Amino acid sequence: MKPLRSSLVALALTIAPLAAAAQQAVDSAYTARIRELTPTDRIWKFNTELVETMPASATVPTPLKVLGYVPGTLGRLSYVADLNRYFRALAAASPRTKLFSLGMSDEGREMIALVIADEATIGNLESYRTQLARLADPRGLGAADRAKLIHEAKPIYWLSGSIHSPETGSPEMLMELAYRLAVDESENSRIIRSNVITMITPVTEVDGRDRMVDADKEARELKLGAGGVPLIYWGKYTAHDNNRDGMVLSQKLTQNFMAGFLHWKPVVVHDLHESVPFLYTSTGTGPYNDEYDPIVVDEWHTLAYQEITELTRRGLPGIWTHGFYDGWAPNYTLLSIANLHNSIGRFYETYTSSGAGCRTVKLPAADTSRRWDRPNPPVNGVRWCIRNNINYQESGSLIALRYVADHRETFLTNYVAKAERMIDRGRNSAPYAFVIPRGQRHAAEAADLVNLFRAQGTEIHIATSDFTLKSAQPPTRARAADSAAQTAKVAAPVMVHAGDWIVRLDQPYAATARTLLAIQKFKADDPPPYDDTGWTLDALRHVETIKVADSTILTRPMQLLAEDAKVKGTPSGSGPTLLVRHLGDWRSAALPWRVGAGKVSVAETGFSADGASYPAGTFIVENPAAQAQEAIAGLGLNAVASAAPVSVRRHAITVPRIALLHSWIETQNEGWVRYAFDQMGIPYTYISEQGLKRPGYLDKVDVVVYPNVGAPAINLVNGRPMIGPAIPWKKTATTPNLGKWDETDDIRPGMGLDGLAALRRFIERGGLLLTTGNTSRLPVEMGFNSSVNIVATTRLNARGGIFRVQPVSTASPVLYGYESGSFPVYFSQQPLLAVTARDTTNTTEDVDPAIDVAREKMRAKVILKFHDKADSLLVSGLLAGGDEMAGKAAVVDAPVGKGHVLLFGIRPLWRWESQGSFALALNAIANWNHLEF
Ligand SMILES: [Zn+2]
Repeated sequence: MKPLRSSLVALALTIAPLAAAAQQAVDSAYTARIRELTPTDRIWKFNTELVETMPASATVPTPLKVLGYVPGTLGRLSYVADLNRYFRALAAASPRTKLFSLGMSDEGREMIALVIADEATIGNLESYRTQLARLADPRGLGAADRAKLIHEAKPIYWLSGSIHSPETGSPEMLMELAYRLAVDESENSRIIRSNVITMITPVTEVDGRDRMVDADKEARELKLGAGGVPLIYWGKYTAHDNNRDGMVLSQKLTQNFMAGFLHWKPVVVHDLHESVPFLYTSTGTGPYNDEYDPIVVDEWHTLAYQEITELTRRGLPGIWTHGFYDGWAPNYTLLSIANLHNSIGRFYETYTSSGAGCRTVKLPAADTSRRWDRPNPPVNGVRWCIRNNINYQESGSLIALRYVADHRETFLTNYVAKAERMIDRGRNSAPYAFVIPRGQRHAAEAADLVNLFRAQGTEIHIATSDFTLKSAQPPTRARAADSAAQTAKVAAPVMVHAGDWIVRLDQPYAATARTLLAIQKFKADDPPPYDDTGWTLDALRHVETIKVADSTILTRPMQLLAEDAKVKGTPSGSGPTLLVRHLGDWRSAALPWRVGAGKVSVAETGFSADGASYPAGTFIVENPAAQAQEAIAGLGLNAVASAAPVSVRRHAITVPRIALLHSWIETQNEGWVRYAFDQMGIPYTYISEQGLKRPGYLDKVDVVVYPNVGAPAINLVNGRPMIGPAIPWKKTATTPNLGKWDETDDIRPGMGLDGLAALRRFIERGGLLLTTGNTSRLPVEMGFNSSVNIVATTRLNARGGIFRVQPVSTASPVLYGYESGSFPVYFSQQPLLAVTARDTTNTTEDVDPAIDVAREKMRAKVILKFHDKADSLLVSGLLAGGDEMAGKAAVVDAPVGKGHVLLFGIRPLWRWESQGSFALALNAIANWNHLEF
């Protein structure tokens, strides 16, 4: 009964479109495969008439013809080279398509975009692109031209696949969708082709895709099931966080997408993800980012409810919206770029098959209950294969494309209106601009911020003469350093100097600067945050910016900055000794690596030379070679040459041999640290926890950097459960893309007790172990130094925000360059550290004083603590229960034998955002053998 009934339903639904396009033949072999691959069910449907049938073409090849299989075939996933080969074959055969390269990945794989529209539109693509660009920047656009453009232009709808590599279905689906849109003569496809320019990027994370295809093969060989081989590396650095790069554009895939976005200026960006059942179409719970135009929030809902209605009516279970993700942080790579540039950034989560397999759906009640936002919930007991996932994505995408096609002028009107509203806001209400002073302490870091805004398509101006403005908010440092200043009514005039950078807000692409330089206020009773709650970038990077409330700035003398800002260091004075002040930034801290081994010493106290005073941490370079001069200039530092000998207590810096330690549990967090080291030019060797066991390995290392791993400390020792077969991560004939950055015969073992013991011996004989976040739990829980504890909290809610820390051990080399007073750092919820105070209540008189001194010498020292006052803790983001956090240790130096563990509860190298705290880590590393103070 069951097969008969469902095939009748299927038959009934396929007749309608066939009748509508009677002249076009059906590709019967392909169509039969779609039907075979789609599970049938007595009640539910897992496909729609939009996707059930594949039209035939005499000239344009299907994926079946080029690659030998129909997308959704069990066990079949294509490598990037094959996907791109298919798209090139399609582009070569169809005049309705055109293929563009978006650029190459870190590992040299190509990201592409295929444009699809009717032949006339493709023939005039450049003029359609220009029309959209004019609407994207409507400054000076007259009413008649505006109306004409809205009438004639065509929105670009950009679909992107698999930024997340374990989410495997979208590249397969997008091949089929591209073919269908190119050849299908149905009314639906014709309307889409003539009203919308569809753009398809089949794979965003191209390096991770190839690894995932390999991992899927290996999982099947090992009979571990779909997803059975965890994807340890995705791209070179960031794994899942490749989708947290939309603000800072650090990764190649983001840079390629951003450049593509600024070239094409799409009206919609639709990012295809796979996780929750069965199709979540994004709107989010809120709170929504303050800078997203209310219109875009409406557009998310309009498109989402269109898909929900259309797919639900067709009998598909589990189409819903709202209750997943918030819409707050603007760091989701493709979405945020779109939403911050007057486009629509949206995404799907379809139910994953974690590879190319099948499963019987067995979900917890929380996923299948009927709720207001999920009146048509996912169901249990049905069969779910990769083809279900493809059918859902493809049907939903076609519905969205058709809706945009049918409402072309509405979407274009919204598109230009969002740009106009952004310009008007900056013209008519404060703030009118941000000034980024060039003459600031961290000028080179400020230039990086300027260049980031330029990369985001934001215009930057330079003041061409000095001028004074009326009141402004206190500059960043004052705001970040002291909550009192934040609320003070500062009415001092603002001096702007020739050469200062100005971000005018009367421009269409002002939202990125607005949100990156704003203070975020995430309320404790808002729905729980999905990711970071605060990201104020000038605070995180210790850069000064001034928010301008005086509208006359828009008429002051300035010119457009035509190329990236550069700050070159300047030497002054003459003599054999170069003095370089440490400014508490990574550029200063990186100087010893650039100058060359053994050439730099550092002052341990303040001193005077040639009538100027220098603080502790100042670098002293005797008889500098040309390399030192170049390094100083290149880093944007200022050096003073002194003729007189400098007399101060100092130590030579011996640049250490660094091991960057990764786990086989995940590499994402260390990936960001590795990225930062590569960017700063800090060399290291790269090993896994398993490598600690290698005899003698740690004898050749001075510093082990062990970044956060998202797992309990005990898992770092024990690894994964040793059940079933060994799981290699290795380049082989069948898995050519595994290995590469590191490899192992079996990812399951952790460092083991042997590795832990080796690590401890390494510290005891004088090494430095630097831990951040979760890995700081390991030495504490293993009792490396029993005077440090992790503080348990019950009410604290401090998810991913910016908080004030205060220096405690001001003489510690870790704080070289940091000024007195508090400063902002990134922290997320845990761990909070504490050092046991000396017990003065129970001492007897007959203790040998030498033993007492030795005990105190081994007591851990707090280097930085969170601000003592709960109401002064928060700079940006969410904080509740701050009294549990106030005054707790954020960075601790714990002596172990002759060496040290430097425990960071904070994350000093967070996602290429927290440059202001980079130097804390570099200082510790550079002074690894002089951490006593
Ligand atoms: Zn995803």
